[in-house]
Amino acid sequence: MVTTHNLGFPRIGKHRQLKFALEKYWSNTISADELLQTASTLRQQHWHNQNQLDWVPVGDFSFYDQVLDMSFLLGNVPKRADNLSGSELDNYFRVARGRSSANESDCTCIQAGEMTKWFDTNYHYIVPEFSQETSFSLQAQHLIAQINEAKIQGVKAKPVIIGPVTYLWLGKSKDDTNKLDLLDSLIQVYAQLFDELAMLGVEWVQVDEPVLVTELEEEWQFVFKKMYAALANSPVKLLVASYFGSLQDNLTLACGLGVAGLHLDAINAKDEIQAVIDTLPEGKVLSLGVVNGRNIWKTDLSATLLWLEPIYQQLQNRLWLAPSCSLLHVPVDLDNEQELDSDIKLWLAFAVQKLDELSLLAQALNQGRASVTKEIASNIDSINARKYSPLVHNSAVKERVAQVNDALGNRQSDYQSRAKLQGEKLNLPLYPTTTIGSFPQTPKIRQARRDYKLGELSAEKYTQVMRLEIQHCVQAQEQLGLDVLVHGEPERNDMVEYFGQQLSGYTFSQFGWVQSYGSRCVKPPIIFGDISRPKPMTLDWTIYAQSLTNKPMKGMLTGPVTMLNWSFVRDDQSRESTCLQLSLAIRDEVLDLEKSNIKLIQIDEAALREGLPLRKSQWQTYLNWAIKAYRISANGVGDETQIHTHMCYSEFNDIIAAIAQMDADVITIETSRSDMELLDIFDEFDYPNEIGPGVYDIHSPNIPSVDSMVELMQKAAQRIPAKRLWVNPDCGLKTRQWNEVNPALANMVLAAQQLREG
Ligand code: GLN
Ligand code: ZN
Repeated sequence: MVTTHNLGFPRIGKHRQLKFALEKYWSNTISADELLQTASTLRQQHWHNQNQLDWVPVGDFSFYDQVLDMSFLLGNVPKRADNLSGSELDNYFRVARGRSSANESDCTCIQAGEMTKWFDTNYHYIVPEFSQETSFSLQAQHLIAQINEAKIQGVKAKPVIIGPVTYLWLGKSKDDTNKLDLLDSLIQVYAQLFDELAMLGVEWVQVDEPVLVTELEEEWQFVFKKMYAALANSPVKLLVASYFGSLQDNLTLACGLGVAGLHLDAINAKDEIQAVIDTLPEGKVLSLGVVNGRNIWKTDLSATLLWLEPIYQQLQNRLWLAPSCSLLHVPVDLDNEQELDSDIKLWLAFAVQKLDELSLLAQALNQGRASVTKEIASNIDSINARKYSPLVHNSAVKERVAQVNDALGNRQSDYQSRAKLQGEKLNLPLYPTTTIGSFPQTPKIRQARRDYKLGELSAEKYTQVMRLEIQHCVQAQEQLGLDVLVHGEPERNDMVEYFGQQLSGYTFSQFGWVQSYGSRCVKPPIIFGDISRPKPMTLDWTIYAQSLTNKPMKGMLTGPVTMLNWSFVRDDQSRESTCLQLSLAIRDEVLDLEKSNIKLIQIDEAALREGLPLRKSQWQTYLNWAIKAYRISANGVGDETQIHTHMCYSEFNDIIAAIAQMDADVITIETSRSDMELLDIFDEFDYPNEIGPGVYDIHSPNIPSVDSMVELMQKAAQRIPAKRLWVNPDCGLKTRQWNEVNPALANMVLAAQQLREG
């Protein structure tokens, strides 16, 4: 018999109950007991959703982040959170987000733990901290409580934890401590944990080691061997889980860990499964992640079975089936959706539906395909309907993409010649000032968008309200004395959704929320078909804004790579192909703006870096097509049109050459918090075009002083010639208030004036 299990279930709840409970707890509107009650109800619901499986994950629930939970379980809590008032839960929230509740006095607030992206997903975890003071001690009470809770509910529990190597690898040393010196004490705590779990009657423990799909230096391979040599004989059976990619060079290492079982991502590592079967010692369990845990498409059950049947012949009882990774990365339940196109809805599977697919696959293997004939037939119907649907395929788009050549991405002349023409036409001062696009999204703006969406505000009235906002924003910028203006983006809820809603090939769920970090969720748009632009998307607003001023108005678009990286994408063609389609649609918008006499156009690529593959050896391939797509979208304009791009980071030491290849006339980046240290790379790399290093930290309510901004720009000028520098905030201003933005930008303009005077 094949065994089914799940690696993790979304914990946020199908109506985002956990988000709302957390936020109420943080604002003191519910008690800790009420929060705990919500959590327990959610766990119960989610275990119920998974009850057809042979093994159900326990310990995948988290109030904020599973890596932070692991730090607490290992007794690795930063010293600054010790001995503060309140409960352990409050301390947990302090490490997660700086404070536990809105009205807590400042003395118990601490610096929040650093947050960063979980491998190549959009989920963010709290980075474990190591220092000379680090010592581990087992604090498994919460995990044990959940195991007992599951037991009472008759759940066949398989505890899930972050593996020791991945934990160590993800953590950061805060002083000169060598992480590897912590190895021995870490082994002891894990060993103790496994002993305790065995005493509870636990049979299997899932030990997540996703670092197995990255390039591991020899040192880390050694860590793996040492850790598992010490742990493999634990009194519980360990299932080491790798996901998000293939093992490649780590295949022998993974197969030789000596543990009872191995889970592999059979979506991303399909080609190496046979090699694993051949290498894995006799008697070990092989769990195959055959249902994609990262996207929202239905699994092709008959194709999967065709591939699995011989494997099952070979492995028999040793074969387990699961989703490729935790279902944390997909929305909870498709049944929630009432407004999706009924054809498209048939092509989709969210977490709950993915588990049904898993059960069907297992039943087909265990009892023969005949036992699920009807279900397989209906799956084939959906798969075929999608494959041949006219909703998906647009031959005009395909033909256009087929004709794309690199020349489409080339500007007419080089930067030097362009800069001269643009300088004459735009007539900007030295250190020109601008902003990144959005201005404060006031409650009034949100209300108008909401009313319009609900049909409670007519299109005419809505346009009127938005035009008034644009007018207000343009006036404010003129009064502030900024040099290059923007319309302020009041009509945009989100920089991807706004464009997605106007492009063919995109659709939107109502409740397809996915946790991004803590209580924050995102609802990625779904790209289901060939992308085209039925009509201009930003023209009217931009032309209107330009009509209000004699200063140059900068058009504002989201770039193709960011559109791609922040959406659920098609699995029936390459990311590259989808990206090219997006880039042609954006290109048309750029050219329309240019025709309408907009002289500067910014194309935001906030998420370019996020798309980098896990293995460095694959970076260049990604960068090649991503930069090509960007260039096609941006570079069709004449020399006199100035192209800007914006990125929400400036850690691009390792991709600076690719950034330069974009050949934007101006890039604006986020630098203020790093004290311009992030610009060090410009000492080594001679970046040829113009740069606006952010001088205003828009994530903070603080108003930067004139002096501080002058100082930052002077530091920038040490690395980049002043005539190629712009003065601007780190990012868009939409989350700020006017009473913050006005004085901050006034100071910024003063700073630029001082810099010009020298
Ligand atoms: N133009 C966008 C804005 O200002 C850019 C946002 C971003 O880079 N995340 O809001
Ligand atoms: Zn940004």
